Amino acid sequence: MRDLPASPNAPIIVDLQRPIATATATATAADGRADVQRSAAELAERLPEALAPFAQLAYNYLWSWRPGGGALFEAIDARRFALCGKNPVRLLQEAPMPALRRAAEDPALLTRAQDLLTQVHAELDRPPAPGAVDPAHPVAFICAEYGIHPSLPIYSGGLGALAGDLVKEASDEAVPFVAVGLMYRTGYFRQRIDAAGWQHEYWLDTDPERLPAALVTTHEGRPLTVEVPIYDARVSARVWRTDVGRVPLFLLDTDCPENGALERWITGRLYVADAETRLAQYVLLGVGAVRALRAMGIEPGLLHLNEGHAALAPLELAAPALRDGEPLDAALAQARSRTAFTTHTPVPAGNDSYPAELVTRATGALAAELAIPVEELLALGRTHPGDQHEGFGVTQTALHLSHAANGVSRRHGEVARQMWNGLWPDRAAAEVPIGHVTNGVHVPTWLGAPMHALFDRHLGEGWLAHAADPDVWAAVEQIPDEELWAARSLQRAELIAFVRERSTIDRLGRGDVREYVQAAERAFDPSVLTIGFARRVATYKRLDLLSRDVDWTLSLLGGERPIQVVLGGKAHPRDEDAKRTLRAVFELKSKALVGERVVFLDDYDLDSAAWLVRGCDVWLNLPRPPLEASGTSGMKSAVNGGLQLSVLDGWWAEACEPGVNGWGLPGEIEFDHQAQDQRDADALHRLLSDEVLPAFYDRDERGLPVRWLALMRASLRTLAPRFSAARMLGEYIQGPYRMREGCGTPRRR
Ligand SMILES: *Cc1c(COP(=O)(O)O)cnc(C)c1O
Repeated sequence: MRDLPASPNAPIIVDLQRPIATATATATAADGRADVQRSAAELAERLPEALAPFAQLAYNYLWSWRPGGGALFEAIDARRFALCGKNPVRLLQEAPMPALRRAAEDPALLTRAQDLLTQVHAELDRPPAPGAVDPAHPVAFICAEYGIHPSLPIYSGGLGALAGDLVKEASDEAVPFVAVGLMYRTGYFRQRIDAAGWQHEYWLDTDPERLPAALVTTHEGRPLTVEVPIYDARVSARVWRTDVGRVPLFLLDTDCPENGALERWITGRLYVADAETRLAQYVLLGVGAVRALRAMGIEPGLLHLNEGHAALAPLELAAPALRDGEPLDAALAQARSRTAFTTHTPVPAGNDSYPAELVTRATGALAAELAIPVEELLALGRTHPGDQHEGFGVTQTALHLSHAANGVSRRHGEVARQMWNGLWPDRAAAEVPIGHVTNGVHVPTWLGAPMHALFDRHLGEGWLAHAADPDVWAAVEQIPDEELWAARSLQRAELIAFVRERSTIDRLGRGDVREYVQAAERAFDPSVLTIGFARRVATYKRLDLLSRDVDWTLSLLGGERPIQVVLGGKAHPRDEDAKRTLRAVFELKSKALVGERVVFLDDYDLDSAAWLVRGCDVWLNLPRPPLEASGTSGMKSAVNGGLQLSVLDGWWAEACEPGVNGWGLPGEIEFDHQAQDQRDADALHRLLSDEVLPAFYDRDERGLPVRWLALMRASLRTLAPRFSAARMLGEYIQGPYRMREGCGTPRRR
């Protein structure tokens, strides 16, 4: 769609220097580009004239992964930027006039903003990358959550962070790409821990008008609306567009006047607990995504269903063929050849499934509209299509409706082939057509400034554009010890400053005793080995391996060669076991030293994750194998020179060279959990005291930990290129994004 000539009656835009998104302006398609430009122009009108470039920058998240982007907005009013959750649109809407005037009179700042804006324009002007994806028919990536930036609270954790990273990488590589999700009005829950260690959940409202997003309107100036029948309502959804570099992210929103209260609530919360609403979300996400794209003039070449939530999307893709009277099988075969599916969940219970009766109620009207018999639709969601008693699983549906399916690490691919073997009963597990594309992380997003500057000096010009090339990273072997250690120590020091401030506030908010609050102010020593353990709190992640032997823990914290630990993570609101695990950790807090050497940061999110992965020396992960599909936080740590101490599961099982680029704990499946936990706790103790501590604390005459530095180099060299989003996107383009006929996908019965 991008290369069509501009239509004579395209809306006229107020030209501010130059509108930000004209580069690929299209024709008749009302795809929200003009709406984003208008929003930026309106924002600029309220600012001193010289700040117009800031208004344009604010409406494209590209600033967030360009060096110096965040600093530009901080320069206007750092405190307010933090108060606004680093949302630049809100900052510019709310900053007091004196701050704006000061910025407008700072020529150096204005030059920096103009430079970045020039970069943004250059980025948008680049032609699409030649290759597998036709610019006229982009890849449409569909996901229930996106972790683009802390200021866009429509994510919960790993799945969203991965989706955000892939979208940014697609932009960096100029791959024709659009993304679709939901605009949750209250996002995911926020977490507060009380003084006793119990988690409390609360939700904050998001006002889309204050986000870097614009409501997509038609040429008549009315909000573009799509309708999807769900239960017995015709649900209307509007579409917000937010620009993530070159990639538009379209977010469906049912909170509009045409809808009743129940329908408005569909996009109320991410992973809403109520099953009926959740199912409604998935119908909307799948069917609504394709309808919205077509309403905007975008006919995707391929759908990438990231997790099963959007599994119904291929049905809508098939709608025109069905309307033309094509037989169902033929219409679905075509849709299947244009659909790729990524599964992320290695536990059967994590794969959403709904009773047939509920699905019939939710999709009956839709099925009638599409002329698909409801029984056929239900069969798509079953492992055994003929079994009337089986529920409707979104993963089964996605497997039935895609030409390519993959897990997210080599090991997860194996697990998924076993898990879904039932769909291909006449094949051995190894022959099940589910492959793997191991996850990767968007390097510019996660890399700390000191390490970024270090790589700029040593990896050669343009290294970032070749982040997946192992030859680029071979140059880390030449970085002098002093410089490598200085960058690492600087990132640790930045983390410690952050931890002190945040944990003091967290503890004050919890009503902790003064002494414990003050311990936070002293918390953390910049010369002490810093270990991070931050991830969703679920029992299988085994946070308790750290605290089960209290004497051991205390001796490590207070030893001659001490450690300090930063913890973070949310427990699912209904996971009482996980909440108890969290509470058990807090029971240690009355012990001397624990207050200063162990910190739990409330409300783990993209922002705190960034500080942690940049600053921690060791990234710890203790899942019970094989339950870690991939894990990506360790990759974020690795590109920053952090070392992995993890169970050989998920991505680490294919990456670890024990004692060379990090350390591994056994990854075998064990049915006796108690024995496994004891064995793994012992292994953890041994590794920490025999390998990790000496490597960190043994210093040469210059005071440098040469063994540690050798491990860091090996880790960077072997892990950074392989676990970059660039490598991941390349594999998607070479594999699943190539359209194919059926190739071994299951028949519908
Ligand atoms: C990267 C990331 C995750 C995923 O981390 P895991 O390694 O899968 O635990 C979760 N939450 C946030 C905020 C992240 O940035």
